[in-house]
Amino acid sequence: MSPRVTFLGTGTSHGVPAIGCGCDVCRSLDPHDRRTRPSILVELEEGAARRASDDALQPTFRTAVRSILVDTSTDLRAQALALDLRRIDAILFTHSHADHIMGLDDVRRFNEMQRGAIACYADARTCADLRRIFSYVFENTASKGGGIPRITLFEIAGPFVCGDVDVVPIPVLHGSRPILGFRFGSFAYLTDCNRIPDSSWPLLAGVRTLVLDALRRRPHSTHFSLGEALEVVERLKPERAYFTHICHDLAHAATCARLPAGVELAYDGLVLDVER
Ligand SMILES: [Zn+2]
Ligand SMILES: [Zn+2]
Ligand SMILES: [Zn+2]
Repeated sequence: MSPRVTFLGTGTSHGVPAIGCGCDVCRSLDPHDRRTRPSILVELEEGAARRASDDALQPTFRTAVRSILVDTSTDLRAQALALDLRRIDAILFTHSHADHIMGLDDVRRFNEMQRGAIACYADARTCADLRRIFSYVFENTASKGGGIPRITLFEIAGPFVCGDVDVVPIPVLHGSRPILGFRFGSFAYLTDCNRIPDSSWPLLAGVRTLVLDALRRRPHSTHFSLGEALEVVERLKPERAYFTHICHDLAHAATCARLPAGVELAYDGLVLDVER
């Protein structure tokens, strides 16, 4: 079964709508313009996570597992409810900025449902940040009244196997900070970046479906602009490209209408079946 990618969130760190903003995109009635904080779910076997829409077809709980969450966004709880997400087998972290990690505490429900800890993978800096920011998770002294997330943190420094899935970390630059994108087969997810170093281009060879940061039209010091993201697409030539980490400058419909064939803005809830 080919991997299935679901966009849990496609917004920038503020989310769209932004608090207190009255711009056209923040007030838009188009659901594609509502963007929660960035995260994807990669399901390596169909049915790894049961969706509400599956219930009518197949009421029994499916046991297939291979459900990989990329980042625990600030909005993880709402995203899991929207998707009726019941299972997470592993979590990969791109980096430790707040919009990508602050949902970690919501992992407790998955620990309860799955009766076990969840394997998490991150680079050395993000591991250190997680241990510091979520010190209560790693220290035995904290009060455990409400429970704490149970995670097993693995530091990664190159390609690794997650379950039986080959994952290739793709180092990218987010301003001056090196962070990780991830490649699963012919699919790559590169959020939060404004430069792909020379050494990472070979790691992206043959990618057929690319997800890439594209914050807005104007340049930004740590994110690709729409034009810069299109230059990456032009060089890499994937079959399909989807932009994410989008701010309120970009209206979904109007922006997509002007993008080249095969390129579109991702949106919360978008599901892609990709080649393994
Ligand atoms: Zn971010
Ligand atoms: Zn706005
Ligand atoms: Zn970031």
